[in-house]
Amino acid sequence: MIADPCLRFWLHAVQRDGALYEFADEVARTLLPPPLQAELQLPEFLSVTADPDAAEEEPEAVFLVPGHPVLERVAARVLAHGDVGHAYLPWSASPLPQPASLLERARATLDVEHGRIDLAADPVCVYRPLLLLGVLVTYTLDDHFQEREELWVDAHAAAVLDVSVSSRLRGLQFSAAPTAGSHREQAVRLERALHAAHDTLLARIAQRSTALARQSRGVLRDELTRSETYYDAALATLARRRAGAAPERQALLDRQAEATQAERARRRHEIETKFNVSYTLQPYRAHLLRVPALSVPVTIRRGERCYPFELCWLLPLSGFTPVVCPSCGAQAKLVAERERVACAACASKR
Ligand SMILES: [Zn+2]
Repeated sequence: MIADPCLRFWLHAVQRDGALYEFADEVARTLLPPPLQAELQLPEFLSVTADPDAAEEEPEAVFLVPGHPVLERVAARVLAHGDVGHAYLPWSASPLPQPASLLERARATLDVEHGRIDLAADPVCVYRPLLLLGVLVTYTLDDHFQEREELWVDAHAAAVLDVSVSSRLRGLQFSAAPTAGSHREQAVRLERALHAAHDTLLARIAQRSTALARQSRGVLRDELTRSETYYDAALATLARRRAGAAPERQALLDRQAEATQAERARRRHEIETKFNVSYTLQPYRAHLLRVPALSVPVTIRRGERCYPFELCWLLPLSGFTPVVCPSCGAQAKLVAERERVACAACASKR
């Protein structure tokens, strides 16, 4: 279940526009937060399903399938608020790289511990699905400001691409339709891809928040010092007055000193809170893009054992997509074990 609004936006944007209706169930369960339900004038207690059997058993459930007015209105609302779409990158006329040179590159760039990479069959032309996801992050600390985060995700492997490729991908000219007589479109693993994107986004935000907190440390210290100096002076004045006061006034001055101490603690807390970094997310973009690629079937060999593996060469980038662990999906260096190929973390778990 996807509860995060940012993920929900991306999921639905892609689902709606990329015709990835196998996710209708997920959308049905997650896309109707109460305020939207009210806006669409739906009953307060609403049961939705995308499963025809369930709909038959529970006649009062709203059967949400593509084309249902509720889903269409939700889609219209999402589309009105963001930049969503899907497109294809045309195939270039330049010759495809030779299998031998792909193998050479694979061996040079993909280091598999204990494993040797060999070609298993000829590379096949495919459309690799990539997601371009955009979100506006509003940071609050002392002040508000906004920053844009964009993520490119290999939606087949559910792997976030390196930031360094973003500018190269952004410059490409996509078109609405595939090239005539075109190639197979590889499957989109949407939910996994969106979760990978979201995890990366949160990691980037955490890093940025730490940097912002560090930058503002000086200002925070100055503000705290000013406040402490002010209250020190106020308390010193009260102490002086108490020393020279008649006994019946001393109790009153003691209460004033106590109140000033409490105010000082409150103010300190207020200043520290003001400099805590917080943020909100507003997704604004979700594009599903099909990019010409070569699916390269290889085997990873350890001694007598061979494990089949698929590499993907992205033609416009002249590079491989990130390799993910077949077991946990992490982007990490692979190890050819005795029974399987996995990342080092998975390998150590056995
Ligand atoms: Zn793993």
